[in-house]
Amino acid sequence: MKAWKKTSLLTTLIILVILFSLKSIFKISIDIPSSEIEFSPGTEIQNSISSSSAVLPENIIFFVADGFGFSHLSLAMMTLQSENKTSVWNAFDIKGWHDARSVYGPLTDSEASATAMFTGTSTNFGHIGIDINGDKLESLCAIASENQFSTGIVTDSYIWDGTPAAFATHTTNEDNARDILQQLAASQLDLLIGELEDLGEDEVPEEDETLEILRTRFQLLDQSLSIKSIQDKTKPIAAVFDEDQVQNLDSSPNLPQLTDIALQHLSQLESPFFLLVECEEMDAASHENNSKRVFKGLKSIEKTIAGIQQFVEQDEKTLFIFTSDHETGGLAAISDFDEYPNLRLKWATEDHTAEVVPLFAKGPGAELFSEVTRNRDIGVIIKYLVQAERDSEEQEPFQ
Ligand SMILES: [Zn+2]
Repeated sequence: MKAWKKTSLLTTLIILVILFSLKSIFKISIDIPSSEIEFSPGTEIQNSISSSSAVLPENIIFFVADGFGFSHLSLAMMTLQSENKTSVWNAFDIKGWHDARSVYGPLTDSEASATAMFTGTSTNFGHIGIDINGDKLESLCAIASENQFSTGIVTDSYIWDGTPAAFATHTTNEDNARDILQQLAASQLDLLIGELEDLGEDEVPEEDETLEILRTRFQLLDQSLSIKSIQDKTKPIAAVFDEDQVQNLDSSPNLPQLTDIALQHLSQLESPFFLLVECEEMDAASHENNSKRVFKGLKSIEKTIAGIQQFVEQDEKTLFIFTSDHETGGLAAISDFDEYPNLRLKWATEDHTAEVVPLFAKGPGAELFSEVTRNRDIGVIIKYLVQAERDSEEQEPFQ
């Protein structure tokens, strides 16, 4: 080989090595053109539910763990304390996933994803119960109520947070707490439990005004949360707590306790019920890349699930759905060979990712969720279940 050829070959090799090293060091990302993002084409979910012979549930419990992805699920599973311990995750009848999208593609925020899951319609970032044209979508709370369901919300976040708001209200301004509070008080909700936050700041009313708005519909429980002390069982109830008072199992009260109280109250009313439970901890902790907070939040989620599963198993007429609105943080448990089997947690971002997220179901009607591919499919099925309930005196297959 001639000398100049040798030199140019060597130069090319050196450039390639440098480029490869730079890519490894700086983790140069590979862009995916939006035209190529179609990894889960939507299905015609309406056809599959119409032909299903699934038994109808009487009650529905819908648990949204905000920001909870498969990586969070993996962490929950790998930190179970005993190989023989029964996992709450194994106790679901259906274990699947959905592609949590907004109309912009596979990235979403809580507002757009919750709106899709509760209405069956994809929408823009920040839209709560509103479609892409700005038109109001009938809320799941209103549809459930029209069909004789009692309805409730339990959240460890503030009560006007995007996920609970999307169940019963309509707005394109998620920051307008006063407007959302007034809509919650004007809704058909029978139970509302959660926190207050940033009182008196920006568009959040002061505490007195907040409680005044809530009292227009709800009788407010004191901190003892005694269901037995409720004078008029038919009047809607609410309980509110300070910011970050409901965070993990060390909190008083905590999410499993509040969910249990909600189930006690709703199951004593003479109607089927729809209960929305939200855990905000995974999203909050993952935005902070706070691994310790994630671990504590996971325990709270698992204990809440265990309580609901116990209720569902005893009751036998209740469908329990557990899912997430999107993944946050791009969490991964990793290990180098010299560290093995010790694991380290690494975070890819402080924002939401485009990962698909878990979807689990247990109880009558659970099999309907095995066909789900996108978040909006969940809304289509839920609305179908709630409306199908209207004419059925007893549990019957879909017609
Ligand atoms: Zn978030």
